[in-house]
Amino acid sequence: MQARAGGVNLALATPPGVLGGGQVNLLTALGFTSGLNFFDVAGQFEGNLTLSEAGIVDPATGQPYSPDPTLAAYFGPQSETVAETLNSTILLGSLFFSETTAQQNVTLVHEDLHAVFGGTVVGGTDADIASYFNLPYDRNLTGAALVTAASRAITVWLTADCGGLK
Ligand SMILES: [Zn+2]
Repeated sequence: MQARAGGVNLALATPPGVLGGGQVNLLTALGFTSGLNFFDVAGQFEGNLTLSEAGIVDPATGQPYSPDPTLAAYFGPQSETVAETLNSTILLGSLFFSETTAQQNVTLVHEDLHAVFGGTVVGGTDADIASYFNLPYDRNLTGAALVTAASRAITVWLTADCGGLK
């Protein structure tokens, strides 16, 4: 993972303190990424699989989600979203495949964080992760604006080698 992350200096990323348990820095977090599955939502075959056909089930029950949409339908407009993580599955849309290698690396680390922290006391939303790593974003925003601001803060942080923040 570190080799694939290019210029991102993972060792510098340490969150400011304990939050609901042991301190987890970025490098440690990325050590929990085994078992992730990736799907090309832009591809006809994989995009047309339903969540359950792709092995994505409700982790609480082990049963398929109801409704059980296709990966493409779950993902939504591929002109708006680069990637989306659902439990341990990372869905990659068409925008991902037009990113540079460096951008793809940042996207994959970003999505890895959703997978790693989802279901933990930290929480797997963009706001959860941005807050955990004490990243600057407007915490007073709500809804889609909050998600966008927090997501952007994570990507800016990863792009800047995860440094320079207290
Ligand atoms: Zn995100």
